Amino acid sequence: MALPTHIDPRKLALQGYLLEGEVKAESLSRLASSVSSISGSFEASVQFELDESRAKIARGSASVTVQAICQRCLDPVTVDLKADFAVQVIWSEDHLNRVAKNYEPWLVEDRMANFSELLEDEILLALPLVNYHEIGCCTGDSFIQENESSGDEAVADNPFNILKQLKRK
Ligand SMILES: [Zn+2]
Repeated sequence: MALPTHIDPRKLALQGYLLEGEVKAESLSRLASSVSSISGSFEASVQFELDESRAKIARGSASVTVQAICQRCLDPVTVDLKADFAVQVIWSEDHLNRVAKNYEPWLVEDRMANFSELLEDEILLALPLVNYHEIGCCTGDSFIQENESSGDEAVADNPFNILKQLKRK
């Protein structure tokens, strides 16, 4: 099921509503421009609720698979992105101080909020700045081995090794 792009988060919190489904690809332009391509469906599950202080909360997770460029070999790499989040709906920035520590603020100045934008923001936060294949799966691995051998020289400079050399004299 496709998730609605815009929702009334306060009403959903009062109802204790669970929204589950897929974010439409056309709502993900910022994610699309940050990666090579979006290769899987963008799934989200979000529980709206009131917490013990009657703050309006949306708690959930979002996940999507994307193709990015491995910065070691420059070939495509598949990256599974997952974000878990808990946000508190607030009317204005003046209410930032009411947001409890375990929540991120979600500024919703009108009745309706852009739900797709929230989910896209959370996934963008989960996207690493640079992406790599796992070691052993990357054609750029020989480059890492070169780095490791230069690491051996660092061991030779280790003060204990120098001590050993002094003792030998
Ligand atoms: Zn690679």
